[in-house]
Amino acid sequence: DASTIDIEKLVRVIPDYPKTGIIFRDVTTLFADADGLRVTIEAMAAPFRDAGIDLIVGVDARGFIIGGAMGMAMGKGFVPIRKRGKLPPEVYREEYTLEYGTSEVEINVNAVPKGARVLLVDDLIATGGTAMAAVKLVERVGGTVAAASFTIDLPDIGGSKLLRAQGVEVFSVLSYP
Ligand code: IMP
Repeated sequence: DASTIDIEKLVRVIPDYPKTGIIFRDVTTLFADADGLRVTIEAMAAPFRDAGIDLIVGVDARGFIIGGAMGMAMGKGFVPIRKRGKLPPEVYREEYTLEYGTSEVEINVNAVPKGARVLLVDDLIATGGTAMAAVKLVERVGGTVAAASFTIDLPDIGGSKLLRAQGVEVFSVLSYP
C-alpha cells in the first residue's frame, strides 16, 4: 500500500560526501521508486492545496524533479531558478553561500506574474542559503514566496527557521535533527 511505504528507507545516506563531515542525503533513490515519488510529491503538495498558490518555483537541479511533478499534482505551472549562465536573457542574479561552497542562481525577469503567490520547492533545506536566494529572486520579479515545501529539513542548521522569520510557511516530509 503506497500510503504506508517507508519513504525514509528509500533515501540513500552517504557519509562524508561531498566533504568530510557532511552527511549527504540522496533523494534520487527515493524518486527512482514509483511509490516513493508519488507519495513524496503528494505529501509535499497536501498542506498547500487550499493555500491560494498561483505558481510553483524550484531550484536547479533536484528542485526541477520535484517542481514539475508538484505543478502537475496541484494544477499549477512551474518556473525554474537556474545556476548562473543557463537561462536565456534577461535574468536577475543572486549570489549565496551553500552548506558547502558558494553559488549564483538566476530567474528570468518576466517568469512570475506580478503579485503571484509562489510555492517554493526543493529536495532539502540546510542553511537556507539557497531558499533565501530564491525568495529574493521571486520578490525581484514581483511575486511573493507564500510557502516552501521540502522533502527533507535539517532543522538544527537553521534554514527553515530563517525562512519562517521571513513570513514563509515551511513544510517538510522528513526531518533530521
Ligand atoms: P542550503 O542552501 O544550505 O539550505 O542547502 C540546500 C541546497 O543544497 C539544496 O538545493 C540541496 O539540494 C543541496 N543540499 C545540501 N545538503 C544536501 C544533502 O545532504 N543532500 C542533498 N542535497 C543537499
